[in-house]
Amino acid sequence: MPALPPPSPRTAPFEVHEGTHTLHLLTPDEEVQWSFDRRGRLIAGHDGGFHFLVGMDGRVLLRDRRERTRPPPVRLTFEEVAPLYDRVAADIAAVLAFSLEENTARAWLALAAARDAETYRRDAAAFAEVYQPVSVLPPDCYRALVVQLAEGCCYNRCAFCTLYQDVPYRVKTAADLEAHLDGIAALFGDALALRNKVFLGDANALALDQALLLDHIEHVRRRFPDVAAGGFHSFLDTFTRPLKTEAQLSALRGAGLRRVYVGLESGHRPLRAALRKPGTVAGTREVVAACRRAGVGVGIIVLVGAGGAEFAAGHLRDTMEAIRAMDLGETDLVYLSPLTGAMQPPGLEIASQTAAFRAALSESPFKVARYDLRRWIY
Ligand code: SF4
Repeated sequence: MPALPPPSPRTAPFEVHEGTHTLHLLTPDEEVQWSFDRRGRLIAGHDGGFHFLVGMDGRVLLRDRRERTRPPPVRLTFEEVAPLYDRVAADIAAVLAFSLEENTARAWLALAAARDAETYRRDAAAFAEVYQPVSVLPPDCYRALVVQLAEGCCYNRCAFCTLYQDVPYRVKTAADLEAHLDGIAALFGDALALRNKVFLGDANALALDQALLLDHIEHVRRRFPDVAAGGFHSFLDTFTRPLKTEAQLSALRGAGLRRVYVGLESGHRPLRAALRKPGTVAGTREVVAACRRAGVGVGIIVLVGAGGAEFAAGHLRDTMEAIRAMDLGETDLVYLSPLTGAMQPPGLEIASQTAAFRAALSESPFKVARYDLRRWIY
């Protein structure tokens, strides 16, 4: 795949579609489309058979839409993607040259026209001032506003995980959080309206001291009440002591916590040991039960392909046993997350394990979905 694929021929004028939070520029055959947020920032598009998802950190996720096999997207660096902004600018200029009517869409488009590659470079630098890298979000939180109450992972030793390798673990004080929220407000501006919930990061935000956690949540709610109205979501580890009690989880539910995401990875003990996953399956079940009694939704993450063929049968059997014992409800989720990176098994192992888990979970009352870390960018 080329770094930046060539454009499609522009055979017809672009149309402008104005939404509540996004503006779209598209050709009548929809072969080319660019989408902008309220600040005129390009957020996504497609052209020449490729889809672009533009990250706030300046990187772009490039997906080949021509392949039926859905190959994993490629992450382009800012340098690789910079010429894309010239292409988009030329398309905007063509629309502005022919559409003379003064209206809100034109004013919105003028905002987009005022941005060039240098603007996007400055945005990426501003993002790096405000955030540690946002490496992962559950798929139902792709439109969430990430607020990093902490940075990194307090354990950081799972054998399969490199997400926070270079991020020292740190809990934010009230003053740190205030500065972080100031930065977020400046970074997003009007585009905050696109965000529909809050995701509390990073890996163990809910392991924070309960009083500090409730203060932080309240702080975020006061600052961004509209986004907070969509609820708070976060990862929940099941091994950092002291674990949250049912009463504490109820208090967090009262503060707006809607769903937690628990990395079970596997119910098979030998595989969990090989993965260096801390905690126990029984302990995870207890935490999940406490969440459910407290009215907090749960998303269970299963690492598909972990251990390869050697562990496949035990992984499926024991993980299914653990999930069944959790007695999840219809508002809960199970995410099947394909293992990537150095421990990824060869060949078709992931596809066959995915099919096996899907078949085993097919009669479940809860939703089962794919959670592929490679297919998303913040
Ligand atoms: S606990 Fe989660 S974030 Fe931390 S190392 Fe393990 S998988 Fe990665």
